[in-house]
Amino acid sequence: MYRLPEGERNITILSGNEEGERSLSSTKLQPGKARTKSIHPPIESHYVLAPSQEKKQPSSMSSSMKSMLTTYPLRLRESMKKIGKSQSMKVVLEGVHETKDEQLVESFRELLFLEGHLIGKHNDYHTLLRFLRMRDFDFSKAKEMFLNYLKWREDYCVDAIPKEFKFEEQAEVKKCYPHGFHGVDKWGRPVYIERVGMVDLNALLQVTTIERFVKYHVAEQEKTLNLRYPACSIAAKRHIASTTTILDVKGVGMSNFSKPARFLFMEIQKIDSSYYPETLNRLFIVNAASGFRMLWRALKAFLDARTLAKIQVLGSNYHSELLEDIDPSNLPSFLGGNCTCSDYGGCLLSDKGPWNNPDITEMLEVPKISEL
Ligand SMILES: [Zn+2]
Repeated sequence: MYRLPEGERNITILSGNEEGERSLSSTKLQPGKARTKSIHPPIESHYVLAPSQEKKQPSSMSSSMKSMLTTYPLRLRESMKKIGKSQSMKVVLEGVHETKDEQLVESFRELLFLEGHLIGKHNDYHTLLRFLRMRDFDFSKAKEMFLNYLKWREDYCVDAIPKEFKFEEQAEVKKCYPHGFHGVDKWGRPVYIERVGMVDLNALLQVTTIERFVKYHVAEQEKTLNLRYPACSIAAKRHIASTTTILDVKGVGMSNFSKPARFLFMEIQKIDSSYYPETLNRLFIVNAASGFRMLWRALKAFLDARTLAKIQVLGSNYHSELLEDIDPSNLPSFLGGNCTCSDYGGCLLSDKGPWNNPDITEMLEVPKISEL
């Protein structure tokens, strides 16, 4: 679907009309009118394997390996048989690197190494490629961004957060800031949902602080990179490296955007765009009424062009757009799907997804991914 011929890696996106509406889907691209901007195709398109025919999640390690083998192209299947289980899992987790990208990443890595910047972790192929893509493969700009990222990781002790930070107030926070991961889109990417219109910031600040909330956000970002994407890759049998996000902004307008709300938005936005580039696949903003659209005009100024090109602002008739990308079983009933997660007290509390499937998490733990 997203496989593009060599030399046609940039696609043209309409920048949208006055209302902030825009279209991303390639089926809607029209030549001609409006300003245009170039973005790279979805990050997973670099690593496309055969489309998954099987929706069922693997019930055991051996059967999942077997099904992985049967859905790969014959040439890849043969080589996977030769290299064995752990190597075939590596193929799924790593994806198939494009030669051109690999060369660019290698040159970038060499540059960082020669300047003495590559010490320790966080310099794997996909991380470097994300920073390169975010800066349109401009080495100097990508280097600056990547070094800022390394410095932030050190200053903010990011590596220690998943081990040491406990967000005990999560259940309380979810009551006044409903959000959560919920299933996968049709491609296999995790789906993340926030009901922004239901946020009660005063109540939120009674149960946590902005500082702790930001730390929790970072912990979740780390979990997505280190657990959710690998687990989704195994379930979808192809490399998954980005998230599809839905923000329900029903009732949101200028009056909701108080000083602390602005501060929180800016903090989260800064972290996501500076330190977790290229992890957003698409962002659907739904239930956008006139109040939100006014606010949106102001907010847009803080978002970079690449992020803006992935955002679709929709009114109350959003269901068909969401269902194009997400199966109803993975969409909560409050967004037009048929899931209620009643056993968990609601869809935003369940954190349902392949990352909670013990068969898959076991596969991720047995051979240490970093050691493959
Ligand atoms: Zn649900």
